[in-house]
Amino acid sequence: MDFLEFLNKSVTPYHAVENLKAFFCAGAGKNAQLFERGGALIAVRPPLKADSGSRFKIALAHTDYPTLKITPNPDGFAAGVRTLHPEIYGSPIFASWLDRDLGYAGILAYELEGKVQTRLIRGEKLFRIPQLAVHLNRNVNQDGLKLNPQTDLNALWTAVGGKERFVEALGSELPAGARLLDFDIQLFDAQPAQNGGFEDEWIYSGRLDNLSSCHAIAEAFAAAEPSERDFQVAAFFNNEEVGSTTREGAAGNFLRSVLEPLPAVLEDSFALSIDMAHACHPNFENKSEPNHAPVLGGGVVLKTNSQKRYASDVYSSAQFKLLCEQSNIPYQVFVSRNDMPCGSTVGPSVSASLGIPTVDIGEPMLSMHSIREMTAVKDHESMIKLVGAFYR
Ligand SMILES: [Zn+2]
Repeated sequence: MDFLEFLNKSVTPYHAVENLKAFFCAGAGKNAQLFERGGALIAVRPPLKADSGSRFKIALAHTDYPTLKITPNPDGFAAGVRTLHPEIYGSPIFASWLDRDLGYAGILAYELEGKVQTRLIRGEKLFRIPQLAVHLNRNVNQDGLKLNPQTDLNALWTAVGGKERFVEALGSELPAGARLLDFDIQLFDAQPAQNGGFEDEWIYSGRLDNLSSCHAIAEAFAAAEPSERDFQVAAFFNNEEVGSTTREGAAGNFLRSVLEPLPAVLEDSFALSIDMAHACHPNFENKSEPNHAPVLGGGVVLKTNSQKRYASDVYSSAQFKLLCEQSNIPYQVFVSRNDMPCGSTVGPSVSASLGIPTVDIGEPMLSMHSIREMTAVKDHESMIKLVGAFYR
């Protein structure tokens, strides 16, 4: 599955799941069973012969990313222009959303013949949240850009004279005779993903956190042959950016409900929880812990945290290091500074609720949670190789 194409097509968690499903169903799944819940997907490939010593080998990632969601009643009107009022999802860098070409996509729920039905949509048109000119904000470069998310992030979507309400625009996406009941629509960076750097060594794209990990897992899962006795599992959760406690999230019962009927021992199993990691920023080196500052292109990152914001522990970290060494894959270790709070991911919830030894790892990246992020081609390749070695 082409990486850049996957990034371009997976503009919402629903679209990411659609693309993963299509990839697995077209043969890459090799008889894997698929389980879907909204923007989440779990693929399970059974072993050739399960026995009392069978284990789960699980790779986890998340399909969602920080964004602006269109509110149920979004319509506004100001300065001769119709606007859409968004609600913040997760923690985007607000300023990065300004002056970008913004697409809109998501899912529509409608009534047709007395039943609720759904449809994924991706609008053709581009919206925008314009910057305030420097002449009207004279100190912006000295003081930094401060944005009030309630008042300063309304998106301009059309001029007066056309459609008056956004739901009218959504209505044109419905089948004949259908009536819109609800929607989950978000804005996204419409600029296609592309290679960057003088040697094309980097990737610039929206949604790298965490579609990059979803892609690495899907590629490795597709390439792996079924195991003699172990269940190979690929789990793609939604709602990580808002804490994971949902039906489709890692803290919900989705994975448990899929694994429970299967004859394998949880405690003997292992999970790779894969989410992006902070690379050291060349212009802000002092934001990284000096001895634990992963660099772009330096290999897969092992994430550890003594406050247990990551699931990695001494046993799972040791397993990971051995796997990297045996497979000739470079790795680097991340620890956050004591004077800065540490992020988290899906690993701790899954590890705690299922009792599966888990290691938190990821590709190093810059601009995390910007609308346009950056990672290194080499690290992505290393990640695919690592997950492949894990499934073997
Ligand atoms: Zn993430």
